[in-house]
Amino acid sequence: GSEMCIRDRVVIDPGHGGPDPGAVGIGGLRETDVVLDVGLQLAQLLQNRGVQVLLTRTSEVDVDLPPRVSLANRSGANLFVSLHANALSMDRPDVNGIETFYYQGGRAYELALSIQQQLMAVSPGTPDRGARPGRFFVIRRTVMPSVLTEMGFVTGEIDAPRLADARYRQQLAAALAAGILSYLGQ
Ligand code: ZN
Repeated sequence: GSEMCIRDRVVIDPGHGGPDPGAVGIGGLRETDVVLDVGLQLAQLLQNRGVQVLLTRTSEVDVDLPPRVSLANRSGANLFVSLHANALSMDRPDVNGIETFYYQGGRAYELALSIQQQLMAVSPGTPDRGARPGRFFVIRRTVMPSVLTEMGFVTGEIDAPRLADARYRQQLAAALAAGILSYLGQ
């Protein structure tokens, strides 16, 4: 209910930005554009449900990793979600899939699993690479349950056309929101 969710505070971390486009894939598809669009939509969806949201960036600017972590740790947020897209070589369009990393088990694992399940539900046919342990800086150094999700391969023949599609990005944002709200008990 609304009395409960008003206390929830979420940090959304769209990876890369500005001079750092992140991965660049099929047709010049850029990770930074995908994750910013999904992140902004996700923020709106959560705000509509009464969740307080902090974004580590809201435009095409480059933010280093330590300031992203400090913002999260200063914020008193109860969870942190970093948004990324994967890439392999342009010679490997056969590699596709979605995966969500957590650093420590327990609640972060629950959050990763909840998000992963929702992302897979809107992404039929792409491999489920699972909720997995990872050691990325932003999830290792943040103090709240933190996950980093790789929402498909910009070099993948299944994932890339979807990530380039505004309607699919809208579905990804809705799936992330559902995964987060489910974790928060809404
Ligand atoms: Zn990335």
